[in-house]
This record gives sequence, structure tokens and C-alpha cells, in this order.
Amino acid sequence: MKNILQKIKKVIRQYISLRSLRARIFLIVLVVGIVPSVAMRYGIMRNYEQRAVEQRTVTVQNQLKIVADHLINEDYLNTRTSKVINAELEMLSNLYDGRVQIISGNLKVIKDTYGISEGKTIISEEVIKCFMGESLSNYDAQYGYIELTIPIIDNQIVIEDTQGAAAGNVITNGVRQPDPRVKGVMLTSISTDYITDTLTILSRKASILEALMIMAIVAIALILSIVLTRPFERVTKAINEVKDGYNNESISVPDLAETEHIVEAFNQLLQRMKVLDDSRQEFVSNVSHELKTPLTSMKVLADSLLAQENVPAELYQEFMEDIVSEIDRENQIITDLLALVKMDKKVSALNIAVININDLTELILKRLRPIARKKDVEVVFESVRPVVAEVDEVKMTLVMSNLVENAIKYNKEHGWVKVVLDADHQYFTFEVSDSGIGIPEDCLAQIYERFYRVDKSHSREIGGTGLGLAITKSAVLMHRGSITVTSTEGEGSTFLVKIPLNYIAQ
Ligand code: ADP
Repeated sequence: MKNILQKIKKVIRQYISLRSLRARIFLIVLVVGIVPSVAMRYGIMRNYEQRAVEQRTVTVQNQLKIVADHLINEDYLNTRTSKVINAELEMLSNLYDGRVQIISGNLKVIKDTYGISEGKTIISEEVIKCFMGESLSNYDAQYGYIELTIPIIDNQIVIEDTQGAAAGNVITNGVRQPDPRVKGVMLTSISTDYITDTLTILSRKASILEALMIMAIVAIALILSIVLTRPFERVTKAINEVKDGYNNESISVPDLAETEHIVEAFNQLLQRMKVLDDSRQEFVSNVSHELKTPLTSMKVLADSLLAQENVPAELYQEFMEDIVSEIDRENQIITDLLALVKMDKKVSALNIAVININDLTELILKRLRPIARKKDVEVVFESVRPVVAEVDEVKMTLVMSNLVENAIKYNKEHGWVKVVLDADHQYFTFEVSDSGIGIPEDCLAQIYERFYRVDKSHSREIGGTGLGLAITKSAVLMHRGSITVTSTEGEGSTFLVKIPLNYIAQ
């Protein structure tokens, strides 16, 4: 229960911090889906409002112009008696749910369909401008009305064009003058309630649609985020199964190319770990075996001495010599293991000195020739030029002797081993070729791995532990050198070591 709660908390935290891919997909789909729909709704509503206001303004303006003509024809501004005009004005004000005021030339309200302002004087900017011949309109969205000011023009009056100015746009001394044809002004305000009502209805419908759409988008975002990330969950589950030990085989999640790549990399890692694990197990049993063999021999030798009475001194001498040689062997194995552990931990600093490599090679070959002779293997040394280099003598000895020893060990009867020493101005090369059994191509990449041996039974028979090349490679790399191998199965192998003449400190 506590575990589940912790998991939920973790998921929520990942969602909030957007570290989870699922949360990101969810958010992206949500934003991509919702933002355009909200923007579209806002745009459509605004557009509708603008067009509706424009249309209404034009319609009412036209009607007002017609009425304005009637006013002039009926001389309403002076008589104010025309019933027809009064009726027309009432009709207008009812039709558009508004108020019409007629303002005469002396800025007095002579007719107000609301009957409030009659007799009052109106001096507003709009009215003044209107007397100059301008028709004005103004939409007040907050209070929901359109205000229209229309000049009542007597077209029978002909005015002269003053200073080239168009009639109705008379300017004297830089000041715009009232248009003499404008006899009065119609000041009208009409309600836009019906536009607001339509907008409210539209908005309600759009909100319902939008809510439905948002619900659909949230559902789609949720489904997509779950579906798209599920393969990754499968990868994690498969890897966890391997980690927890339920499954030890290669895993497969082919849902997406990406998961396939992850799984491929994991399988390669798994494979590598398996090989390492196998080699390690193999090594432990080998080491135990190797360490036990000399002990068993020693015990047999000691027991047989103890079991006999009056053992002759010569036999004692002989058995003791055998025991000492078994102790030496045991010692060698332990030394090898320690050498490897030391290189592994990188605790061993190199003990660099200027060494004559030709002499060192001669010495190593001298030590190994007796072993070669036992197998009837001929060892040839070709020194192309004298080589003096800065190396760690002990480690370089390990490198050279391991390679030559392997070339003898994995050779055939009457075979040969050739060692070539050469150098250029930067590196010296130490090449060991043999006429031995060779290494299969698919094993070449692994021979430097610790405990790896191509033919385990053969290697154990001849005393190999699979450590030699691992030690060799570590030592070469510590000298900032390189080691390469070419080999043909059944024909032989060539190992080439390249070491800088001058030690390159890190
Ligand atoms: P080992 O102690 O078994 O010799 P190494 O690390 O020295 O271990 O070598 C690893 C494996 O590489 C050997 O078991 C052997 O199979 C192969 N090998 C090394 N050198 C040679 C060679 N010169 N010819 C053929 N096989 C070789």
C-alpha cells in the first residue's frame, strides 16, 4: 500500500515537473487541440459582432437620411407640425428600440421621441461636426448602443466653392465653418441588444461545443500519452524482469523503432554480462583447480614420507625438491592473480626506466627456449634495430613473455615462433608470429577479456587460466601503447604490440 502511494506520488511529481514523456505528450496534444479552438471561437464572435454593428449602422443611417429629406421637404424644422414625420420618427424609434432627437440650427432640441430633452440645447462635439456636414457613428459595446448623427441637408441651397474647397467643407482663416446647407441634425441612439442577445446565444452554444471538444481532446491526449509511452513501460518491465532474475533471456519490445534500439543495446549488454559471468565462473573453478593441484601433490608427497619408516635421506631430498617445485607453481598462480588485480585497481604506478629492449627480449627468449624445445618449437628473434625505450621493466617483461609463451603453448609439434623487434622515431614494435593453431575469427574480439579461453579444455590441459592476454593488454595500455592480432585458424597468429619510445605521462 505504502509502495503504491509512493509510486503515485512519484508519477504526480514527474507529471508536474514535466519530466515524464507521458505528461509532455498529454500537454502538447492538449495545447495543440484547445488553443486553436478557443482562438477560433473568439475570432468568430468578434467578427460577427463587428459585422452586425456595421450592417445595423448602415441600415439605420440610410433610413435616417430618407427621413432627413422628408424633414426638409415638409419644412419640419420650422413648422414641427407634420404628423407624417412625427409618425415616421416614432416608427423609427420603435423599430430600432432607440431614441431620435432633431436638433435645429440654433442647437435646440425641437423633437425627442422620448419627450425628455425638447427645448434643451445640445452642444456636443458630434453635433458641431455634424453641422459641418459630417455623418458620425459610434458603437458603445459596454452599454450596448450605437449613436448616429446625421446632418439634415437642404440640397436646394447652392453654395459657392470658396478657395477651391469642396462644398460642405468650407474653411475660412484656417477654421472649418458650418455647412450652410445643414439645417439641423438628427441625433439617434439605437440599442444593440439584439446583437448582444445573439452573441450570448452563440456564445452559449459555442461554450457547450467547446466543453465537448475539450473533453474529447483531454480524452485523446490521455489515450495518446498512455498508448505512446506504453512501449517504454514494456521495456522497463522487461529489463526489471531480467534484473529481478525472472528472465535471463534476451528481451524483445518491437513496438517502436526507439524501443527496439534500447532493447538491442540492452541485449548486447546482457550478452556481454553473460559472457563475463560465464568466464568469471569458469575462472573461479579454474583457479580453485589450479590452486588445489599443487596442494594435492604436496599432500601426497608429504603423506607418503610420513607413512614410511626409516625413509632414506635421498628420498627425503627428492620429495622435498618436488614439494618446493609445487610451492613455486602455486606461488606463480597467485602472483599472476595479484598482478591482474593490481592492474585492475590501477593502484600500481608504473616504474618507468630507460630499458634496452633488445637485451630484455633476449633474456625472455632465453628463459622460454627450454619450454619451446620440449614442444620442438623453434624460436627465432629478428632485431631490425637496437631499441631503447622508457618502460616499466617488470610489466614489459610480462607483456613479452605472455605473448611468446602463448605462441609456444598454442603451437604445433615442430612449429616455429618468430619475434621481430623494430622501431620508428616514435614507437617500437614487438611482433610475435607463430605457426600454431590460430584463433577463430569470431573469438578474436574476446581473447583479451579476463578468463576467456578459446578452447577451455585444451587451455586447462596446458595450464592456461585465461589471464595472460588480459594482463598483457592492461600493461600495454598503461604504457599508452596498442596491441592488435591477426590470425588464421590452423595456420597461426601474429600479435603486434606498439609502445611509445618515450613514456607519455597522463
Ligand atoms: P591462457 O592462460 O589460457 O593462455 P590468455 O589470456 O593468454 O590465456 O589467452 C587467451 C586465449 O587466447 C587462450 O586460451 C587461447 O585460446 C587464445 N590464444 C592466445 N594466444 C594464442 C596464440 N598465439 N595462438 C592461438 N591461440 C591463442
